[in-house]
Amino acid sequence: MNTAPIIALPRVGGHLALDFANTAEWQDSQCQQDWLTDYSDLVQWSHGAGLLTLEQTNQSLSQAAGRPQEAAIVLERGRALRTAIHDLGVALAAGYPPPMAAVQVFEQELTPALGHLRVVFESSAWTWHTRPEDLDAMLWPIVWEAAQLFANSNLRHRLKCCPGEACGWLFVDTSRKGNRRWCSMEDCGNRHKARRYYHRHRPGEMKSSSRTIA
Ligand SMILES: [Zn+2]
Repeated sequence: MNTAPIIALPRVGGHLALDFANTAEWQDSQCQQDWLTDYSDLVQWSHGAGLLTLEQTNQSLSQAAGRPQEAAIVLERGRALRTAIHDLGVALAAGYPPPMAAVQVFEQELTPALGHLRVVFESSAWTWHTRPEDLDAMLWPIVWEAAQLFANSNLRHRLKCCPGEACGWLFVDTSRKGNRRWCSMEDCGNRHKARRYYHRHRPGEMKSSSRTIA
């Protein structure tokens, strides 16, 4: 089992919403390995993605310490949103209609998020405006970014799902030939090559190795 912290996860999706979906590994729509194990993971990932400033990160963590039940609900909403983004992305990549359950969860998060989104100019930089008590503030830009991705035909047509075993990571294929197959050559690409080599020389079962995380 991989115990690397969520902040060390490679961001190979080429889009914030896909990198969020890639905080788990997937077999169909079942989460196989989850890096989003508590509310602080959600906060730390969001800080790493530039959605929360350091001050907002510290505020969220201290607010959550005093309101653990609300933080747990936000974590569950984050996980449900992540599954919805993953399932919608997989359907788009395969050319299938979007699963209705995923659409429903997605819309449940998108509608209120639109009412909250504001940007303010603070400390010489543009940031998302949040109040310290908004434990779910990071979910708003995530669902907003995902909506923009799914609604953009140029990006949507380049969406792919890695076929690596129990990977299921999504990415936007920006290669010139549009022939990128793997989330990363260092991970699933190399594992596939090693497996092919092994079977050619020693037919039989080969043990899977886990993702490379620096
Ligand atoms: Zn992969």
